[in-house]
Amino acid sequence: MNLTVVGLGLIGGSLAKDLRTKGIAKTIIGSDKSLIHCQKAKELGIIDDYKPLEEAVKEADIVIVSVPVNATLKVLPQVLDNISEKTVVMDVGSTKSEICKLIQNHPKRKNYVANHPIAGTENSGPEAAIDGLFDKKTTIICEQEKSDPKAVLLIKIIHEAIGMHVIHMDADEHDRHIAYVSHLSHVISYVLGKTVLEIEKDETNIFELAGSGFASTARLAKSSPEMWTPIFLQNKKSLLKSVDEYIKNLNDFRELIANNDENALFEEIGKINDIRRVLDGLALKRAKGH
Ligand code: NAP
Repeated sequence: MNLTVVGLGLIGGSLAKDLRTKGIAKTIIGSDKSLIHCQKAKELGIIDDYKPLEEAVKEADIVIVSVPVNATLKVLPQVLDNISEKTVVMDVGSTKSEICKLIQNHPKRKNYVANHPIAGTENSGPEAAIDGLFDKKTTIICEQEKSDPKAVLLIKIIHEAIGMHVIHMDADEHDRHIAYVSHLSHVISYVLGKTVLEIEKDETNIFELAGSGFASTARLAKSSPEMWTPIFLQNKKSLLKSVDEYIKNLNDFRELIANNDENALFEEIGKINDIRRVLDGLALKRAKGH
């Protein structure tokens, strides 16, 4: 198949790598607003060549749009305007409602499959692309009833080929759920990073003591503003609700500490430990292929 990837960063690059390894993509054409990223992606063998957007999508069987979600609002209609009748287009954006609403009446709406792979790292650009990023992870296809069933099937098949579990959701439902499990985690990590940077003036201390749990909790705070500013703004409504609930819980937790309420604190942490059963239990199930 001829694959075109628009946006040659972590996600687009990693998808290109896996789809080539699995023999699904025979030729991979890239397109990116950054010439340096185009050149780098070619040098790394992620793409065979790069072209301007209109040209890059013309001959494609599949187009993957993998740019920040504010750029997706501009790029996706341009892609749909320029593809052939048989081309299938998917995006990978971390928000879905605004993107789906924008193209709901596009004449080629049926060629598009709204998609969000739940996999990633805090790094960006073509050099961040890695093999096997999606293995045993989940991807969410939204509003499948608005896409051609053959297009949905193709997108499902290629994700399963790279080891992913495919689930379906309504776009608003996706944004609501993802606000809690992904977007809120990023807000918390950024604010933790900010708090520690402000209070701990000695950077060596931060580095030396990072093993205490700070490094893993603040990892997401390394993620780029180009990607996360538009995600927070596009998912504002659900995100604000989750942030408000988090602030309430944080205040309640603070009170337990302030009041030396040892039993309640002990009990509360014990209850929250249930997250281990949820996360580890599901990971085990997934590893066994359920
Ligand atoms: P990335 O590494 O920063 O890659 C995005 C690429 O798109 C960059 O090369 C960027 O160039 C380019 N770009 C920006 N605007 C463009 C435009 N108008 N036209 C063409 N190229 C453009 O970001 P990423 O992490 O791969 O994220 C891409 C998408 O995946 C986003 O929609 C994000 O929500 C989604 N996603 C990310 C993760 C994650 O963990 N990172 C997980 C799941 C889904 P410049 O750098 O020069 O701007």
